[in-house]
Amino acid sequence: MIVTATGNPTTEQPEVFEYRLRARDGAARCGTYLSAHGAVQTPCFMPVGTKATVKGVLPRELRELGAQVILANTFHLHLRPGEQIIEHLGGLHAFMRYDGPILTDSGGFQVFSLAELRRIDERGVTFRSPVDGSLVDLTPERSIEIQRALGADIVMAFDECPNAQMTGEQLAASTDRTLRWLERCLAVPLKPHQALFPIVQGGMNADLRRASAQRTVALAPQARGFAVGGLSVGEARETTYAMLEASVEQLPPDRPRYFMGLGTPRDLVEAVDRGIDLFDCVLPTRNARNGRVFHPAGDLNLRNAEHARNPRPIQEDCDCPACTGGFSRGYLHHLAKQNEMLGGILATLHNLRYLLRLCERMREAIAQGRWQELKAEVLPAAQR
Ligand SMILES: [Zn+2]
Repeated sequence: MIVTATGNPTTEQPEVFEYRLRARDGAARCGTYLSAHGAVQTPCFMPVGTKATVKGVLPRELRELGAQVILANTFHLHLRPGEQIIEHLGGLHAFMRYDGPILTDSGGFQVFSLAELRRIDERGVTFRSPVDGSLVDLTPERSIEIQRALGADIVMAFDECPNAQMTGEQLAASTDRTLRWLERCLAVPLKPHQALFPIVQGGMNADLRRASAQRTVALAPQARGFAVGGLSVGEARETTYAMLEASVEQLPPDRPRYFMGLGTPRDLVEAVDRGIDLFDCVLPTRNARNGRVFHPAGDLNLRNAEHARNPRPIQEDCDCPACTGGFSRGYLHHLAKQNEMLGGILATLHNLRYLLRLCERMREAIAQGRWQELKAEVLPAAQR
């Protein structure tokens, strides 16, 4: 049941893509975002399934870990197997057997990482496919068409991703181009269950960030959510947070805000403290496959010899399948050293659960007005 602004209950169906703010504590918020594939409780960390799989984890396990939205990468899926095949097999949800909300990035970030392989102009980006060397064209229109075919619930605008060193006129021009590209993205129709999130850019310049956010909202006043991009790309953390603040202060409070590419416990808390609701990062799962796992007292490297004879789990009070399953650090060390796939899987389950549990705790603390308390508890111990 929904309660209307006048306080009267209504039996009206909730509108898909609606964001309901449940509580605020300072700038930190908790809320509910309604997608066609279910409600998302925010703050929410989104595990990354680059090639339509969160490596080594079953969809059912993702749910059990507390995952809500998961991410897939347009660039990789466009190259292989191709969006036509995925659409033919029923779209991403059916293809990867995940019936919860899915977000696809625009492919821009990956393309801009291919420094030697690209030509950027007003039309878009041309690059050589790392798969077969063929020339691939990615334009704002093309990115949205690919994402429409993939069928994710949240579709990201195609933006230009400046590097952390870009300044001056070059940065201003790049920020302008992202806005022109946004207009082109908005002109491409989506499927009814899809929503496009524009991306605020502006590099490491707070004024440009503010202007980018203002103009983004003016171009897409109906957008169902907004993202902050181009941060966490190697700059000092103090800069990240200052740029984040400049971006967020211009965004409407009644829409979710997504920080692209953030995934350490400290970063999650710092971002939520500045009004962010959604984040994703490939590092927790990639690190896990390399034996690096989260621990409240600091990350552990399971490959280190010190763990070889340790009978304890990764973390005594963790409720993930690795820790509750009685798998010792000694066993996990052995699996990691032998590159056994179960080692990567167990470490992945732990790292994902660690962040998803942190999100649960953040939501609870915000709802109960205990945000400062949780921050004081988590931040001093958390490593970057
Ligand atoms: Zn665990």
